[in-house]
Amino acid sequence: MFEKKLEDEATTHPFVKFLWHIDSMGQRTTIIPKNATDRGLFLFMTIGIPFAVVWLGGVVLPYYHTEVNGTVIFHITAATFIFYNIFHNLLLVIRIDASGRTSFLPSVLKPGWGYCSICQVNYPPRSYHCHICDECILKRDHHCKFTGCCIGYHNHRYFLMGVIYIFIGALYGIYYQWDYVYSTINLPIVYFFLTLIAPHFSLMFGGINLWGVVVATLHNLGLVTLIMAGYILTIQVRAICRGQTQYEMKHNIRDYNITLNQNIIDIMGRRWKIAWLTPAVESPLKGDGCKFLKTNEYEPPKDI
Ligand SMILES: [Zn+2]
Ligand SMILES: [Zn+2]
Repeated sequence: MFEKKLEDEATTHPFVKFLWHIDSMGQRTTIIPKNATDRGLFLFMTIGIPFAVVWLGGVVLPYYHTEVNGTVIFHITAATFIFYNIFHNLLLVIRIDASGRTSFLPSVLKPGWGYCSICQVNYPPRSYHCHICDECILKRDHHCKFTGCCIGYHNHRYFLMGVIYIFIGALYGIYYQWDYVYSTINLPIVYFFLTLIAPHFSLMFGGINLWGVVVATLHNLGLVTLIMAGYILTIQVRAICRGQTQYEMKHNIRDYNITLNQNIIDIMGRRWKIAWLTPAVESPLKGDGCKFLKTNEYEPPKDI
């Protein structure tokens, strides 16, 4: 039942191990990932996202506008809203404990449950052990290398919304700075696109200067972010439509597909229609991460 992903298992730095525990509120005491690869990607993300905001607000926006007007206020408000949502959602992904440690896990093995010899606990259906997090995760979806933690029953909502807002932010940023990129590179259309593909060659042949390389590279980083977030979102949407976790998708397990509405509630909580606005909106989940309705057990609500 366990995934045999043992890579990087023993790379947890002793200091990170010392920091890493759960407080009385059931939240992680540190945001630093346990694993070396995860720490690199986490650093890239935590520097990259605020840098993008500073770049767009401090370089691109003053290029378009020399004085504050309604358009400037609109862009600043929209960017603040998107950045806040990315930051708060990802913080909650990391801080909320996705494991079963704070749940009551029975000492008797129930039907459909498994036993984890590493954690020495009985784990419920849809839960699996993560060898990087070194614990069993309730309704485990996958291990996210950018946040350095597993996505499971308790933090899936924040992961999904974090990725959606990164996608929106990348799309918005690329669209907003397009004119700036085009006028900075300032080449005929074919050479412009060739420069975006290989800015260093364009520099060697005198097509652009060093600033042009910086602008083209930042545009490309935005594009990579957009493609990656779009790819993750496509997988997530496909899984939500089928009521599956990533493990269940790989193994074609379709036992928990109810209706699209119920599948969304399973992740986003009962107040999903407004929960997307901000992670501060409370949206309680239906269960405890241990018991799940199966497709054949679902009875649609009857009209009275
Ligand atoms: Zn375990
Ligand atoms: Zn994990």
